[in-house]
Amino acid sequence: MSRLAARTSRIDSSGIRKVFDLAKQLKDPINLSIGQPDFDVPDAVKQAAHAAIDSGKNMYTPTQGIPELRAQLIAEEKEFTGLEWAEEEFIITSGVSGGLFLALMALIEEGDEVIIPDPYFVMYKHLVSLFGGTPVYLDTYDTNFGIDADRLASLITPKTKLLLLNSPGNPTGRIFSREELEKIAAVCRKHQLLVVSDEIYRRFAYVEMVSMAEVYEDTLVLAGHSKAFGMTGWRLGYACGPADVVQAMTKVQQYSFVCAPAVTQFAALACPQVELSPYIADYRAKRDLMAGILSQSFELGPPDGAFYLWAKAPEGMTGTEFVEKAIARNVLVIPGAVFSERDTHFRVCYTVPDDKLREGANILCELARS
Ligand code: PMP
Repeated sequence: MSRLAARTSRIDSSGIRKVFDLAKQLKDPINLSIGQPDFDVPDAVKQAAHAAIDSGKNMYTPTQGIPELRAQLIAEEKEFTGLEWAEEEFIITSGVSGGLFLALMALIEEGDEVIIPDPYFVMYKHLVSLFGGTPVYLDTYDTNFGIDADRLASLITPKTKLLLLNSPGNPTGRIFSREELEKIAAVCRKHQLLVVSDEIYRRFAYVEMVSMAEVYEDTLVLAGHSKAFGMTGWRLGYACGPADVVQAMTKVQQYSFVCAPAVTQFAALACPQVELSPYIADYRAKRDLMAGILSQSFELGPPDGAFYLWAKAPEGMTGTEFVEKAIARNVLVIPGAVFSERDTHFRVCYTVPDDKLREGANILCELARS
């Protein structure tokens, strides 16, 4: 009998770990694999963190987060989506990962099915499996990485618990338009299906960004500070949605995370002082630069947002085979199989200096031609 719970054997980290192990062997690689911004936490936020520590804001906070930050974020949500969340519909979490963990733990029972558009953020399928659910993949490759409403409807069974959306998407960068979201909402409404909408990249939008919550009432939105403020290690996010779900998440948080990190919560009060537009403009320019070069040799997914490009491996090669060739030339990208049931693509992250981007993109193009 194994001493480990069976749930631990339902998940594995082999795909992504293999890439990072390879990365360790490379000396000064052109690293286009990192899923985080390359800017540091803005000064105003750092100073607020120092001040919080120095003034003794180091203790547990209320489970659902400090009142000042809750009020600030609820106001920001109203500005962003027009929606006014009530107190019982809102919780501050340890990153979006924390929000996903709480939500799925609160919602999924053994045997429940969760519809996940493929390609997907790798954590989704593993968390669903960890909690005893079954991921059901909704293929988006032939729909330009959008969601076909009829296909969605065809996957719904009496066991379907929820639909997990991600826009802007990791790894594709795809943003779902209002029209697409409305079609998805119509299907979900008909089947009374909850949507969990991961919008962590919503500030990095180069086309119109609409929250699923704007078009569908039974949506749990997950958003956070990791990507927008370069604070991935600080662990801050939040969830807003139906009160029963948020209250169940709050109970789970009470006996697990306890609260999001106190210092980070106080520091985040300074986030509105930060002008984000230069950061967004910088990443938009990097996207243009990369897409401009790579589109000459690769078929690219729609680069609407986030900081990724999703490129099809050259004809006759799997994503993994192409990535092996790239790594042999010291360029690190991630094989699509890490994010998908298919192995036809690779993900490029463009949060690196422009000279590295150019160098990396040119090598990838050379490989495609050879
Ligand atoms: N969702 C997506 C789609 C992500 O790409 C990431 C980070 N890579 C997360 C959630 C987790 O973010 P956080 O740092 O807020 O836990």
